[in-house]
Amino acid sequence: MNKKTIRDIAVDGRRVLVRVDFNVPLKNGAVADDTRIRAALPTLEYLLKHGAALIVCSHLGRPKGRVVPELRMDPVAERLAALLGRPVRKLDDCVGPEVEQAAAALRPGGIILLENTRFHPEEKKNDPAFARQLASLADLFVNDAFGTAHRAHASTEGVAHYLPAVAGLLMEKELEFLGKAVENPEHPYVAVLGGAKISDKIGVIESLLRRCDRLLIGGGMANTFFRAMGFEMGDSLVEEEAVPTAERLLKEKGGRLVLPVDVVIADRFAADAQTRVVAPNEVPPGWRVLDIGPKTLPTFESALSGARMVVWNGPLGVFELEPFAHGTNEMARILADMDAITIIGGGDSAAAVRQAGLVDKMTHVSTGGGASLELLEGKTLPGVAALDDK
Ligand code: ADP
Ligand code: MG
Repeated sequence: MNKKTIRDIAVDGRRVLVRVDFNVPLKNGAVADDTRIRAALPTLEYLLKHGAALIVCSHLGRPKGRVVPELRMDPVAERLAALLGRPVRKLDDCVGPEVEQAAAALRPGGIILLENTRFHPEEKKNDPAFARQLASLADLFVNDAFGTAHRAHASTEGVAHYLPAVAGLLMEKELEFLGKAVENPEHPYVAVLGGAKISDKIGVIESLLRRCDRLLIGGGMANTFFRAMGFEMGDSLVEEEAVPTAERLLKEKGGRLVLPVDVVIADRFAADAQTRVVAPNEVPPGWRVLDIGPKTLPTFESALSGARMVVWNGPLGVFELEPFAHGTNEMARILADMDAITIIGGGDSAAAVRQAGLVDKMTHVSTGGGASLELLEGKTLPGVAALDDK
């Protein structure tokens, strides 16, 4: 990586503004899943151990530029304090005189958590004056918010122009693995792509097809390819507008695309629907494809065998409903047993791997949904571009 990280600079005695991605799910006023808070701990602990004072900030949810009491950072502060085993002082704003005073009084080892940055409309507008106010709190900026790095906001991009700016350890790890998938993959390189829609991921498909040796396609997006092959798909999710794209990809890259050989269909979109397994060209009217079928798994498994690197994005079925989670769960298990470098990108795919309890069996499970997709597309993330070069 050509960007400086916290290991490249002295942090002792410095006040460090750390942008993290604490955009966590809340339930009844408490943190429902602290995966993202835990993911930032190595950076925060490193900085504390090396004598820094921490001013931590993040957005939470979509308050649309005003104060939304349910989106205050208090529950996050509580959980962070418990995980770090140190007090965390939560402030009620992220800029302004009171915040400036608290930051100025902060001693090495001290931790402040600022209020939700998106309570200010200037955050998403990347307003330079607001970014400068954030920057004035600290001597140094650390960006560890990989999950928000694809957004050029004041606390992710703007602030980096006013302070020495370096990557945190999570950011570094994400860029290392996802960057490798784009810049110098190990071959044979097999990509597995699923999820709902092709139109969300055209850029990812094109980018993967430039680099990988085989592309396995499941999930809702496979239906659009089947439609392009002339199959009737009943009530399945099909993107008619994307059919020409699917046709072109089949024609140009057909040899490297691997589609399901059978599918699980249901008579309704419900966990208690009637289900059947059929060939993709046998979907009756009124039925819909909700998962890959049992014969597809060995087909996909043999397409994966011998791979030295695998990237997986997008569930292979409607994994939120138990009867249609089989294909996705089995893919997680297949990848968990492989010797290859296995990289999981995408919010729902990462959730599926977590749900299957297989995170530790993968080389890397990304914490960023949109950001990991943009990296896989080969785009530069603005939050990364703004950091200081090595
Ligand atoms: P990721 O977040 O990993 O990038 P996406 O957001 O693209 O994945 O897709 C996830 C969604 O795709 C899930 O909500 C899942 O239910 C849906 N999906 C997968 N297969 C199908 C299908 N056959 N029909 C409809 N939706 C599907
Ligand atoms: Mg998603």
